[in-house]
Amino acid sequence: MTDPKPRSHDKGRLFIVSAPSGAGKTTLCNAMRSRFPALAYSISHTTRAPRKNEVDGQDYFFISPDAFQEKINRGEWAEWARVHGNYYGTCAGRLDAFLKDGRHILLDIDVAGAAQIKARYPESIAIFIMPPSMEVLEQRLRARDTDREEDIQKRIAHAHNEIAGRDRYDHIVVNDRLDDAIGEMAALISRYTATGSH
Ligand code: 5GP
Repeated sequence: MTDPKPRSHDKGRLFIVSAPSGAGKTTLCNAMRSRFPALAYSISHTTRAPRKNEVDGQDYFFISPDAFQEKINRGEWAEWARVHGNYYGTCAGRLDAFLKDGRHILLDIDVAGAAQIKARYPESIAIFIMPPSMEVLEQRLRARDTDREEDIQKRIAHAHNEIAGRDRYDHIVVNDRLDDAIGEMAALISRYTATGSH
């Protein structure tokens, strides 16, 4: 006999990943995306200009401030925030469509956005990536060489605020050795998505 009701482990899970920029979050998220091909990635919208190598519709949907504001007015964001002077948002319609399909989803969003997602989807799992130290964070930001000095300074100041909010997360992963951090994060995702584990 088949059970018509979806079992709890068939439900999609939302994984929120936040970190100060330079903590290695994009690398870790990319590693999770290749390790868990069924994990849907929530592509955010932003009003910031694309960096070199960024592709519209792949890294972000790059939109104008007016278009962003219109979506605020229409209540189309599951969450949105102003980060480093630019707007970033997650489209509610896209998230709900994934969840309806029972897909697990990875969201790379800031601390303010994470709090909004937790309030809207209380079963989501929030993971905070920590750099091993502020010195290492600064070195990584400079080595990246994609931002102007003024932007780097903004990111360092913002990092302190974000780290102060880490206790609101369900899990903290310290990205010291990349392989270890990848292993830790993969173990978390496997634990929450394993059939029959919850
Ligand atoms: P970046 O400009 O370096 O790609 O991202 C800057 C920050 O914005 C990162 O902390 C990133 O997690 C955050 N971010 C990216 N997309 C979103 C989003 O849709 N919503 C929120 N709240 N933050 C986002």
